[in-house]
Amino acid sequence: MAALKTKSVRFSGLPNKSFDGGCRTIDTIKLMDFGTPTTNLGAMTCPLADNFTDWARFAVAPAAKMYLKGEVVRIETMGTFNCRNVNGARSGRLSEHAFANAIDVSAFILRDGRRVSVLDGWRGSSAEQAFLRRLHQSACKRFGTVLGPDYNAAHANHFHFDMAKSMTNGTSFCR
Ligand SMILES: [Zn+2]
Repeated sequence: MAALKTKSVRFSGLPNKSFDGGCRTIDTIKLMDFGTPTTNLGAMTCPLADNFTDWARFAVAPAAKMYLKGEVVRIETMGTFNCRNVNGARSGRLSEHAFANAIDVSAFILRDGRRVSVLDGWRGSSAEQAFLRRLHQSACKRFGTVLGPDYNAAHANHFHFDMAKSMTNGTSFCR
């Protein structure tokens, strides 16, 4: 929280909660304002929020300028906390979303009205492809796990970012 405050990020702390099935939100916050309005933000762990706001400021903004000659005025997400298993499977291990430690980013709205979505842009114009690939690459340096359209069909329409590293060797996972 101290790191977020020094970056002039506005947020509010959320109470710790436990849910059926082992899901829980511990030491989470809700981002209120970090410069780019972002849809569907719920509870986020502090490390996730810290890296996400850095990504928005230091990756999304410059990449939009460089590749799209524009300014991102809104980031669309499919949410943060969600009490479910990995890939929404009926059994298996809990998703990082179950701990508010993950976010799914789906599209970017530019000031001139353009909307670049992961779904269409990943195979879209060369500028859109370059923009989204730069964002994916940059995310891989910031988050423990990054999944996108090249990983599997479940991620065709969004980037999944979470703070968990590989359980086997502790390195980040980037696909
Ligand atoms: Zn996800």
